[in-house]
Amino acid sequence: MLPFIRSDLARFTAYKPHPNSPSGKAVESSIALDRLDTNESPFDLPQELKEKLAWMYQHALESNRYPDGEHAQLKSAIAQYVNESAVLADAGFTSANISVGNGSDELIRSLLIATCLQGEGAILVANPTFSMYGILAQTLGIPAIAVARNPDNFEIDLTAAKLAIANEQNPPIRVVFVVHPNSPTANALTTAELEWLRSLPQEILVVIDEAYFEFSQTTVASELLHRSNWIVLRTFSKAFRLAAHRVGYAIGHPELIMTLEKIRLPYNLPTYSQAAAAIALQYRHTLLTAIPQILSERSKLMQVLTACPQFKVYPSMANFIFIQLQQDAIALETDSLNKLHQQLQASGTLVRQISNGLRITIGTPEENARTLERLLSVLSG
Ligand SMILES: *Cc1c(COP(=O)(O)O)cnc(C)c1O
Repeated sequence: MLPFIRSDLARFTAYKPHPNSPSGKAVESSIALDRLDTNESPFDLPQELKEKLAWMYQHALESNRYPDGEHAQLKSAIAQYVNESAVLADAGFTSANISVGNGSDELIRSLLIATCLQGEGAILVANPTFSMYGILAQTLGIPAIAVARNPDNFEIDLTAAKLAIANEQNPPIRVVFVVHPNSPTANALTTAELEWLRSLPQEILVVIDEAYFEFSQTTVASELLHRSNWIVLRTFSKAFRLAAHRVGYAIGHPELIMTLEKIRLPYNLPTYSQAAAAIALQYRHTLLTAIPQILSERSKLMQVLTACPQFKVYPSMANFIFIQLQQDAIALETDSLNKLHQQLQASGTLVRQISNGLRITIGTPEENARTLERLLSVLSG
């Protein structure tokens, strides 16, 4: 290792988007594979919207100028969308409540910098959950404390979580990260979990990641108006079909939002990505018509898999499902799971193997039919 590099970085490896994909294969370019391992929408932006963007690129957007560093137009369109989708009619969010990031990943990193850096805090997560919180924390030298979930329904072990927070450690827990609904397990926050989050003191920031909001149609956004220690993260990478453009946003108290604005890179979001997100919001009613179809495909997939005695299928509030093998011996289970995963991949379907189960993104009807066919054929073979 080069002698000038921070010594704690030696134990990290670079993030692999498709950790268990066929070795050496560039997954992004193998269109022949059913890519059901990263929870994107299976539907590309409609041609008509791509043409609008192409027209803007050719005639309206300046490539020689820096992007709008304040994201003014986009923020105001997002605030309007959030108001529309909050449970309270006209919640009154404005641009002052919104910060936009290069994917929500950037916002997660900014939140960590704003709260825990320089030994001021640790974060709390409940595993299994989105891995990026822990990964980004550790690359900043921020301790990530993990508690478990109930293996039957994946509710957070609240006793362990309360103990971890009460534990006088140095540095203290400053941020709790939850996903609503959680990835990879697809369950939304329960009343008990929400009550616990509401009970946390002002010194602890609660980050509620609603990456799958458009699928779950459940949000805590309206509570942000009277909880200055809560922040909601959302993204254009899933239901809005813009994963390639890297746009995420945070909704929160103006003072916290202003802090995020202070520490981000000045031109964090390319002009073209800002334009794409604005167009996606403008045409949201068209884009979001795919949601009922994805949800009905999810029910079909779950119904067939639930009827297979080999699978344990968990309820889902998102555009993916989580399944495990029904077996008593864990060692055997891991082994069979590896085999199932590898054979699925060999037959052309990529899924994510995680937490002793498989997380399967809902794809197009054709992809989902192939998923079922391949899963069942591996089982019977
Ligand atoms: C997919 C996903 C995101 C989106 O991240 P981006 O950086 O906006 O693409 C955020 N949080 C969770 C839990 C996710 O699953």
